[in-house]
Amino acid sequence: MQLTSQKLKKAAHAIHSGALVGVANIERFANAPRGMHPLNIFPDCKSVVSVICPIPRGSYRGINEGTHWPNYTFYSYNRLNTLFRPAVTYSVSCLLEDYGWEAVPVYPGVPERPGLRTPVAPGRPAPEINLNVRIAAVACGLGEIGWSKVFLTRKYGPRVRIGTILTDAELEPDPLVEPGTLCNRCMACARDCPGGAIPHPKEGDPISIAIEDKAYEWGNVHMGRCTLTHHGLNWEASPFLKKDFPGLDLRVRTSDMSEEAAYKLTYPMASARWPASPEFPSNSCIEFYDQIKSHTDYFAVCGARGCIVACSETLEKRGCIEQCNFKTAMRPRPHWQMPPPEKDRTGGIAEGRFPKLYNQPDNAPGKWD
Ligand code: SF4
Ligand code: SF4
Repeated sequence: MQLTSQKLKKAAHAIHSGALVGVANIERFANAPRGMHPLNIFPDCKSVVSVICPIPRGSYRGINEGTHWPNYTFYSYNRLNTLFRPAVTYSVSCLLEDYGWEAVPVYPGVPERPGLRTPVAPGRPAPEINLNVRIAAVACGLGEIGWSKVFLTRKYGPRVRIGTILTDAELEPDPLVEPGTLCNRCMACARDCPGGAIPHPKEGDPISIAIEDKAYEWGNVHMGRCTLTHHGLNWEASPFLKKDFPGLDLRVRTSDMSEEAAYKLTYPMASARWPASPEFPSNSCIEFYDQIKSHTDYFAVCGARGCIVACSETLEKRGCIEQCNFKTAMRPRPHWQMPPPEKDRTGGIAEGRFPKLYNQPDNAPGKWD
C-alpha cells in the first residue's frame, strides 16, 4: 500500500487532534545555505515533513495578568518541546519507517546556524549542524514567517512549536502559502516587544529568502536582546530580579550581546553545548542562570509579549486565522508595566499591576485558607 501525505496527517492527529502536518520536496531547499541544508543531515532525503503542535492560548494568561509565570514555561516550552512535540514527530517517523522509508527526526536546536566545530573528516560540514525549522515549515506549506521571525500558521497564528522529519520517501508536496497572507506588517510585535528586539521596517536589512517562485521576508530580530529578555534579565519583563536586586538596570533594549553570549550568560548547558566564542573565550559558564532560577523557577519570563501575544491579538481581530472565535480577549486589561529602575529603587513590584479583584494585602486570608 502506498504511503500518502494524508496518512501522515492521520497519524499525527491520532496522537494530537490539533497537530498539523505539511510536506516539502527537497527541491524547495535549492536556495538553502550549504551549511544548513537538510542533505547535510540525511544525504538521501527526498522530502521534508513539518509537524505543528499548537501552544494553548490560555498558557499566556498567567503572565499577561502578571500573576502566574510557571504555566507558560511548563506547557508551552518544557513539556510541549520535550514531550508533546516529540510524541507527534516520533509517531509520524515510525509510520514512515513502517512503510520502509527512513525517517530522520531532527532535533530543533538553537541557534539556527551552520555548525562551528571541526569537521569529523575532510569534506564534511561542521557539526553541530542545524536546520532552520521555521523555514522548513514555510517550505512545507504550513504558513509564513511573520515580521517578528515567528512562524505564523493559518490555524493558530504564531502559537505553535515545530517538529521536522527528513525522509527518503517521495511524498506529494503541499502548496506554498502566499507571502503576506497572514503578516500585514502591522508592527504590533515590535511595539510590544519589551526587549526592543524586533526592528521597525526602516531599521536594518530584513532577511529575505526565495522558495520556488515566492519571496518571503522578515525582520532581522536581535536574538541577544530577545534571549536576555526571555530568560528574565530584562526589568521590563521580569519582576523577579528587580524585586531581589533593587535598582538592577541592564539596558537590554540597546544591548549588542549576541544570542550565544546571552545563552551562555543565562543558561548553563549552553557552555557545554557551544564552543568558546569571542564574547566568552573560555567555556566556563557564568552561573547566573542558577541565580535566576532560584528566584523564578522558570525561564520563559517574557511570555512572548510582542512576538506571540500582540501578534495573536491582531490576527484574531482581523479574523485571518481559523482559531479566532474565543469569548475572551487575549489581554482584556492593559498589559502591566514595570517602572524603570531609577524610579523604583525599592525593588517593589509595580503597584496596580494586578486586577482589582486580586488587589489585597499579601497576608490577607484567602477564601480557601
Ligand atoms: S504583529 Fe504579527 S502580523 Fe503584525 S507585523 Fe508582527 S508578525 Fe506581522
Ligand atoms: S520573546 Fe519577548 S523579547 Fe523575544 S522577540 Fe518575543 S516579545 Fe521580544
